[in-house]
Amino acid sequence: MNHLKLAIIGLGKIARDQHIPALTASDEFELVAAASPQGHLDGTPSFPSIAELLESCPEVEAVSLCTPPQVRYETARYALERGRHVLLEKPPGVTVGEIQELAELALTQGVALFASWHSRHAPAVEPARAWLASRRIHNVTITWKEDVRVWHPGQRWIWQPGGLGVFDPGINALSILTHLIPGTFRLCAADLSYPSNCDTPIAAQLLLAGPTGFPIRADLDFLHEGPPCWDIAVETNSGRLHLSRGGNHAQVDGKPLPTQAHTEYASLYAHFAELVRARRLDVDISPLQLVADAFLSGRRLSVAAFSE
Ligand code: NAP
Repeated sequence: MNHLKLAIIGLGKIARDQHIPALTASDEFELVAAASPQGHLDGTPSFPSIAELLESCPEVEAVSLCTPPQVRYETARYALERGRHVLLEKPPGVTVGEIQELAELALTQGVALFASWHSRHAPAVEPARAWLASRRIHNVTITWKEDVRVWHPGQRWIWQPGGLGVFDPGINALSILTHLIPGTFRLCAADLSYPSNCDTPIAAQLLLAGPTGFPIRADLDFLHEGPPCWDIAVETNSGRLHLSRGGNHAQVDGKPLPTQAHTEYASLYAHFAELVRARRLDVDISPLQLVADAFLSGRRLSVAAFSE
């Protein structure tokens, strides 16, 4: 089968840590170009903007948008209008409305649009979902804590409007939650802690109601020193599921649950290839909707200024 010719837009941490290695190993895609204002990829034609890239490389069929979320909409729109398939890194954008508009545009253009949630592809997530399918859930506890200075050094966009603050990692937990358990989730209460010099929160406590009304408590913290904690615990009528390491490991009542063999981004690109070949959309905004509801209804607390 012919390789799909793909370009990366936004040569930052996630592009270099995950996308480029996954594409290098992919049987489906060939990385043929990159665009980033300051960045350059050795051995690959690189351009300062998507406009210059598509002008010089008309053979590009698909683009992966690895920019900060604040520029995602304009970049995606530009690519879709020119008939390119588009993968959006998480979060898919900064408002719910812009994602809906992009989905309509992709449908009109007859191209694929993938609002990706990489954590859903972590190797313990599908086994955990299968285990939960036949159980009655009593409650869920999410603990998502990491040190922003270690994991996001110098990323000022996180603290600017649309950057999501602690929800930049926290939305990964919400993406797993909304995939693990079918149905609709409702935000009941949120406490959001804003540093006095930032436009986005550095910590959040959420209370949600699951599809049958069971409570979900989420504790998100961006100032957690030491090893990160990316855990989801689910109490059910027949056992306790503990999903840890961001969905990479799972235990039931202390015994390991077998995980899948793939890595997150290999699975994510395999799914994107299916969408491109079928010219389909996979656009689930439910994690972003929950964050939007937290911003709509949450209590705002003021905390100490943040410095790197
Ligand atoms: P980052 O290191 O700040 O990289 C973003 C890059 O985007 C920057 O290097 C910048 O390039 C480029 N950029 C900015 N505006 C652009 C534009 N208009 N056109 C093209 N490129 C542009 O951020 P990141 O950590 O990679 O995160 C990017 C996205 O991936 C975020 O949505 C984040 O939530 C998601 N993500 C991150 C991680 C992670 O562990 N870091 C994990 C999963 C998902 P220049 O340097 O060339 O100016």
